[in-house]
Amino acid sequence: MSRISYVNGAYVPHRDAAVHIDDRGYQFADAVYEGVTVRHGRMVDLEPHLERLWRSMGELRIAPPMERGPMRFVFREVIRRNRIENGFLYIQISRGVARRDHAFPTTPTHPSLIVTLKRLDVDGVIKRAEKGVKAFAEPDIRWGRCDVKSTSLLPNILAKQAAKEKGGFEAVLVDRDGFVTEGSSTNMWIVKEDGTVQTRATTDNILPGITRATLLKLAGELQIRVVEEAFTLEDARGAAEMFLSSSTGCATPIVELDGHKIGDGTVGPVAKRLVEAYRLYMEA
Ligand code: PMP
Repeated sequence: MSRISYVNGAYVPHRDAAVHIDDRGYQFADAVYEGVTVRHGRMVDLEPHLERLWRSMGELRIAPPMERGPMRFVFREVIRRNRIENGFLYIQISRGVARRDHAFPTTPTHPSLIVTLKRLDVDGVIKRAEKGVKAFAEPDIRWGRCDVKSTSLLPNILAKQAAKEKGGFEAVLVDRDGFVTEGSSTNMWIVKEDGTVQTRATTDNILPGITRATLLKLAGELQIRVVEEAFTLEDARGAAEMFLSSSTGCATPIVELDGHKIGDGTVGPVAKRLVEAYRLYMEA
């Protein structure tokens, strides 16, 4: 059975799902997106994802293609039609189809909405977090509006590919001043010797991760001290622990950075508690 995707008002077999070649998402990456984890058929943190989607559209002046209520319905319908219990729901909204011109179209366009769902081995993600992953630093060459979740992801793709070719799971993006911004598709965290968790503030040109926000809440419940402050690559190399967060990666410890062990090179106690707390959060 083919996967079912939603494209501009229709549920279609995934292999036939297509948008027009003049779609501005295709030509200019003039589009925003969200990725929501589906766990046991339920969307994790759907409301904050919708909130961020609306914010991204607002910042780029893309008109919502529909209200939130119908959109929630479409998401549920895609999940139902695919009969996928654990997956990754991808939502993309572009400014729509128009004759090619850099400036916004002068005649109103219909924003394009596509929704796809693929299987995600969430248990595998949790299992991977028990061992931890390797990461490599890469220069952050992105623009000044990384708070907008736009599909303009070329620098992220290049960084991820570079890290992958070195044998890493994720790229740790570093700005010109030596500060870690975030990962290519994750937020970055370190744990200091005294057990304090540190992560860059979302006011500092990074994506305000939904998993990040949930982990901050969970850390509070666990009475883990957190500071929202930028840290350098040097700080990360010397940290007791390091981990990343994202909807698809949950919380995943980083045990090696640029070939050097973080701490003793195994998953540390603070990250372990947060991984477990997030796992339970997804089950709830
Ligand atoms: N930063 C970037 C650049 C990302 O692409 C993502 C994943 N979309 C994240 C952080 C993590 O965000 P979230 O927890 O909302 O998935």
